Amino acid sequence: MNRLIGIDFDNTIACYNTLFYNEGLSSGVMGPKTPVDKKAIRDNILLWHDDIAWQKLQGRVYGPEMKRAELIGGVRDFIQISRAVGDRVVIISHKTEFANFDPTKTNLRQAALAWMHAHRLFDQTMKGFSTEDVFFEATRADKIDRINKLACDFFIDDLEEVLLDNSLENSVTKVLFQRNVSAAPPPLNVFASWAEISSFVHGGEGFSREDNR
Ligand SMILES: [Mg+2]
Repeated sequence: MNRLIGIDFDNTIACYNTLFYNEGLSSGVMGPKTPVDKKAIRDNILLWHDDIAWQKLQGRVYGPEMKRAELIGGVRDFIQISRAVGDRVVIISHKTEFANFDPTKTNLRQAALAWMHAHRLFDQTMKGFSTEDVFFEATRADKIDRINKLACDFFIDDLEEVLLDNSLENSVTKVLFQRNVSAAPPPLNVFASWAEISSFVHGGEGFSREDNR
């Protein structure tokens, strides 16, 4: 249908909850009763430790341990359906090249691309979706600029702050992906799963649920 659908990457395509939990436990900055949830883990570490401890944990999760992140169910189906009906899909991610406290100096963008390859996001079943459809930006402002410049018809993100940013064009249909759906102010369209996002964007087009966990 010749529409351009933009998708955020971290916590919209890749899920880090279990990874943050396991890394937080093994590094001793939190206890086993902490919920397996990135935000709860962050709040816990900021309460009992400091921002440096949180940044160090992030450095490991998004860097050398990135390969253990999980693909959120339904993402591949969504991209396949979008391409099949003639829409273009781009991933636009706010991601610096390196983390502040990562002694391994892992390139975070390369780690993310390697993860996308490993999860077969660019294989022949993805109907031409390729690394050229992935954009990494150094700041949130640059990310919003990119969404505007490419003239995305939709943008799907897990963060309200991105979608509610004043500089994001009104012409972008704003889709908030949140597992625990809470009331969100207009103009946000909130969904808890990729199956729901797919029916919002594509109407009745088939969703195989092949990997819609
Ligand atoms: Mg995100």
